[in-house]
Amino acid sequence: MTADPAKRHLLPLLIPFLLAAPVQASTCYGRPGAGSIAGAVALPADGANFEAYSRLGVQMGRTHVHAHVREVVLDAYAALARSAPGTQFVYGETGLKEGGRMRPHRTHQNGLSIDFMVPVLDARGRSVPLPSSPLNKFGYGLEFDTGGKAGELRIDYPALAEHLYALKEAAKRHEVGIALVIFDPALMPALLKTARGKELEGLPFMKGKPWIRHDEHYHVDFDVPCQPVKIKAR
Ligand SMILES: [Zn+2]
Repeated sequence: MTADPAKRHLLPLLIPFLLAAPVQASTCYGRPGAGSIAGAVALPADGANFEAYSRLGVQMGRTHVHAHVREVVLDAYAALARSAPGTQFVYGETGLKEGGRMRPHRTHQNGLSIDFMVPVLDARGRSVPLPSSPLNKFGYGLEFDTGGKAGELRIDYPALAEHLYALKEAAKRHEVGIALVIFDPALMPALLKTARGKELEGLPFMKGKPWIRHDEHYHVDFDVPCQPVKIKAR
């Protein structure tokens, strides 16, 4: 070996920096209901314990977020791999690369909104990704009854609670706020009854009735400081 022993010991220290993907800067404008974003990043299409709701949705660029939000989401999935091993998670629509209105959503405009599809158990109690096809509007068309059941599927409330808890903790670590969580009020009692339920009480759940039922997904708006809304030059 000819390497300078004084320098060789630096390599292990550098490895984490070499492996870490560079964090791209994003700038959000306005608010989720009226805004846009520059430098948004796509969420990975899948990972060890999660996947996107639709390959087509990914290809159409409907899964972009603010870079800080991406860090929080991936950090939370990594925590879930440890706290809820074997549980499959699916995320839904987030936003377009440059933000703005993405129908049919009213918000999701500035990279801070994410829909997460409910984690579900099949008839045999196994965690499975929420089924998605054009026939069920990529998961959004599924209807869960007040008992949390849709056919043979039932909502995995402990996993859902664990996910919200993981998001809350990851957001704290990354100094990102959580501005709003929307989930069907009829299904809330079952969520809050889980072992993690108590720790979710500090989350800003929407009071009142959302404009569409949030039974097959839960919507989260993160809170990152944004610039005033950009006025498009005409
Ligand atoms: Zn949403």
